[in-house]
Amino acid sequence: MLLLTNIGQLVQTMAGIPARRRDLRAIECLKNAALFISGNKIIGMGEADMVMPHPIIKDAESRTMIIDCGGRVVIPGLVDAHTHPVFAEPRLVDFEKRIKGANYEEIAKAGGGIRSSIAKVRAADEQALVKSTRDVLDRMLEHGTTTVECKSGYGLSWESERKSLRAIREAAKGWPGTVSATFLGAHVVPKEFEKKRKDYVALLCQQMIPAVAKEKLAQFVDVFIEKGAFSTDEAIRIFEAAATHDLKIRAHVGQLSPAELRPLMRFQPASLDHVDHVTGADVKMLAKSGTVAVLVPGANYFLGGKSYPDARRLIDAGVAVALATDYNPGTSPMLNMQMAMSLACTQMRMSPAEAVVASTLNAAYSLGLNRAKGSIEPPKEADLAIFDCDDYREIPYWFGSNRCWMTIAKGKIAWQRDNKS
Ligand SMILES: [Zn+2]
Repeated sequence: MLLLTNIGQLVQTMAGIPARRRDLRAIECLKNAALFISGNKIIGMGEADMVMPHPIIKDAESRTMIIDCGGRVVIPGLVDAHTHPVFAEPRLVDFEKRIKGANYEEIAKAGGGIRSSIAKVRAADEQALVKSTRDVLDRMLEHGTTTVECKSGYGLSWESERKSLRAIREAAKGWPGTVSATFLGAHVVPKEFEKKRKDYVALLCQQMIPAVAKEKLAQFVDVFIEKGAFSTDEAIRIFEAAATHDLKIRAHVGQLSPAELRPLMRFQPASLDHVDHVTGADVKMLAKSGTVAVLVPGANYFLGGKSYPDARRLIDAGVAVALATDYNPGTSPMLNMQMAMSLACTQMRMSPAEAVVASTLNAAYSLGLNRAKGSIEPPKEADLAIFDCDDYREIPYWFGSNRCWMTIAKGKIAWQRDNKS
C-alpha cells in the first residue's frame, strides 16, 4: 500500500471521455490532498485532514509506505500517444541541412529523411534496438510519462519491421509503465520498391499485416499519408487489410500538405495525427466522430516552421484533441511531454488545463486505455507524475527543463529524483 500525503495540488479531470470543448479545460485541483493506492490501483483521495484520521487508513498504516509530497503537484501520468523510438542513430546531417534551408522533400531527395534511418535499423542487432528503445522509455519515465505508444517503421522489410516490433515488446517487458505498439510498415516506400509501389502495398496487406496480427506484435496499424509517402487510396487498401485482421487504425495525415479525411473515417480511426492542414468540412466531421486529433507541435518546432496545427479551431469545433511528442530522429527528437505541453500553450494557444487533459485523458482514450489510465480516480491504475511545482500551470511554464520529481506507475515508484529535498 502506498499513501501520498501533503499534495499541494491534486489535479483531477472532470471531463466526459473523450474531453471536448469546455470539458478539455474542466479540471479541479484538490489542495492539501492525500491519495491512497493499493496494489496497482487508486483506492481513494481527499483532503489530507479528512483522509488521514480515517479508520481504514489508521488500520493500514503499519502496512503502508507513506510519501510526503512536500506540497508538490500531482497529475495523472503523462500519456505519449505518438512516438517512433526504434531507430539506430540521430540524423545530424539532415539537422544541419535543414538549418541551411533545405526543406523536408529536398532532404528526402538527397538521401536523407526516413530512408536514411532504414539501413541502420536493418543492420542493427535486435538486442541493440531493445536497449536503445528501453533507454528512451526510461528517460520518458523521468519526465513523468507512464504510457507510450511506440511505432515501428524504420525497417520496411518484414524481417526488420518484425525485429522493431519485437524490440518494442522486449523493451516494454519489465518497464514499469505501459506500452502500446503500432505497425508503421507504411512509413515510406523503401528504395527497392520505388518503381513498384503496388508490390510494396501488396506486401504490407497480404504478408506483413497478417503476420503482425498472427504474432500479436501490435494493436494498431499506421500509415504516413503524405506526398512522397502514401496516397489516401493506398492507405485505404492498407486499412482494409488491418480491419480484416482486427487491428485498429491510426494515421499521419495533413502534416505537410492537405489531405482528405473523409475516406478514412469508415475505418473509425483511433487517431488522426498532425492535422496541420485540414478543411472546415473535415473539422466538423472529426468533431462528430470518436477519432482523436493527436497534435505534435514538437515536429513543427524542430522543422523550424512558422505555423502550428490550429488547435483552437479544432477544440472550439468540438474535436477531441490530444498531445504527443512524435519522438523520432528526423523531425522531433523530443521525448519530454512537458515540452509538448509548453509548445501547445505558447504556439497553439491551448490553456495549461487543456494541455494537461490532452496529454492524459484524451491521449489515453486514443490508445483505448481510458478505462485504466488518463485520470486520477478509483479504480484506475495508479499512474502519477509528481512535479516540483506549487501550481500545475508551472509544468508548461518552466519550458526546457524537467520539473518531474517522482513518477509512479501501476502503484509503484518507477522513478524519483535523487535529491528529494
Ligand atoms: Zn510520427
